[in-house]
Amino acid sequence: MRLKSDQTPFRGLPPAVDASGSYHPVSLWQETVPVTPGSPLESSIECDVAVVGGGFTGLSVAYHLKKYAPGIEVVLIERDVIGHGASGRNGGFAMPLLGWDLLYAAQKLGEQQAGAAYRLMYDAVDHVKRTVAEHAIDCDLEATGYLLLNTCARREKRARREYEVAHRLGFDHQWLDKAGVGEHIRADTFRSGVLDPRPCILNPAKLARGMKGVVERLGVRVYEQTPLDELIDGLPVRLRTPHGAVNARQVVLALNGYGGSIGFMQARVMPVHTYIVATEPLTNDQLASTGWHVKRTSLETARNFIHYFRLTADNRILFGGEDAQLYYGDQYKDQDQIIFTALQGRFREYFPTLRDVRFTHQWGGVLGVTLDMFPTFGAGGDHGSVYHAAGYSGHGVALSNYAGAILAPQILKSAGVRDIPDGPQLPFFYNRKPVWLASGPVRYVGLQAYRQALRLQDKWDRA
Ligand SMILES: Cc1cc2nc3c(=O)[nH]c(=O)nc-3n(C[C@H](O)[C@H](O)[C@H](O)COP(=O)(O)OP(=O)(O)OC[C@H]3O[C@@H](n4cnc5c(N)ncnc54)[C@H](O)[C@@H]3O)c2cc1C
Repeated sequence: MRLKSDQTPFRGLPPAVDASGSYHPVSLWQETVPVTPGSPLESSIECDVAVVGGGFTGLSVAYHLKKYAPGIEVVLIERDVIGHGASGRNGGFAMPLLGWDLLYAAQKLGEQQAGAAYRLMYDAVDHVKRTVAEHAIDCDLEATGYLLLNTCARREKRARREYEVAHRLGFDHQWLDKAGVGEHIRADTFRSGVLDPRPCILNPAKLARGMKGVVERLGVRVYEQTPLDELIDGLPVRLRTPHGAVNARQVVLALNGYGGSIGFMQARVMPVHTYIVATEPLTNDQLASTGWHVKRTSLETARNFIHYFRLTADNRILFGGEDAQLYYGDQYKDQDQIIFTALQGRFREYFPTLRDVRFTHQWGGVLGVTLDMFPTFGAGGDHGSVYHAAGYSGHGVALSNYAGAILAPQILKSAGVRDIPDGPQLPFFYNRKPVWLASGPVRYVGLQAYRQALRLQDKWDRA
């Protein structure tokens, strides 16, 4: 296997660090953390495991490798700076969602398997909370719970069926009628909702930068401004970068949405762009007009293209979703004015008392989606030494932070390291066969048709 430089993802994308060495943040979150970009790799080095990509997945893999086997040499290379990708731009919801929802997972996997998968997802949420506490990472984590809101009869019926499955599986979800929803958020549009008390919210850029410090203290060598240009599979695997190379016994591709255009990742994940807008900080009166100030619950609407909204530590409202884009070819767009305008319009529909609030930030990012919306983990390459974890399909904050707990034991055991704990088991998502995703115009046209069908259903639901 040889992944050449012209196959690396988004090759036309300018670097986030300019010629004078300054980093250019994209999201509100990235603006909250001062970044001095780390040095690029400028020589040829060797290591046991090389991790490509410095988001939550890469950091989690590096963290767990050093935690289980402090003696091994781990190198992490990142194209821009740690947390510049989706991990520094997302909504910051750490939640257990897998596939479209629990009902979908139960239909695809059977109720018991879906229950096991969701328990693993809750472990992932708890892992985030535990790691943040253990390493005292200042990332504004708030245990707000998460409320799924029903805006139409069809969705309400589905949510009721899902709630019953959750109840049978022993999850402590609560059904809220309109009055119950009103105790969390005052908005006429919502008929009912399902409250899950366990999820939390956080500032994802602060978490990513905090984890950078943690892995460096454990001895991981982190090279920022170091894009992978070429991967030459072999023993060892050789990673070529603009000014140096890494020879590694094992490699982990932690690229998620950025990996869609390279080699065997192409058949597994699609790069999908999604977008967020954020308001100025609300005054106490503005916040009180929404009724949100009491419980600060994080919210999501039940739709194909969800809306998700939450408060930030300084009481802005962050509002994302509405649409998602798969652009043709290798296009990368973290600004889409049509979607920003649609999001702002929708915000004013939900919160008429806040119609004059100013939007100060808007941004987007790319995430990895699989055809069945379930994640993909595994090992590939000519010698089984090129690992990946990706395809969290828009719900990766919790699971990408837990990816290392799943992958590190597999990597270390296959390298012959002894006395490694088994790690969480994810049998249905590990080494599953790639779903053929086609490429070029066929893939684009097929997926656009699918996207339009999902959008039509959302429109129909509003009638
Ligand atoms: C706008 C938005 C909102 C979201 N909201 C939520 C949410 O609220 N809750 C939730 O659970 N999930 C959410 N997600 C998804 C979540 O952010 C991702 O699932 C998660 O961050 C994936 O982490 P990752 O490390 O796998 O990928 P990324 O964070 O994307 O990391 C990949 C890294 O690889 C680097 N890279 C790219 N090319 C190369 C190369 N050639 N060489 C070296 N490095 C390279 C990139 O710069 C990047 O840092 C959202 C995503 C977006 C975009």
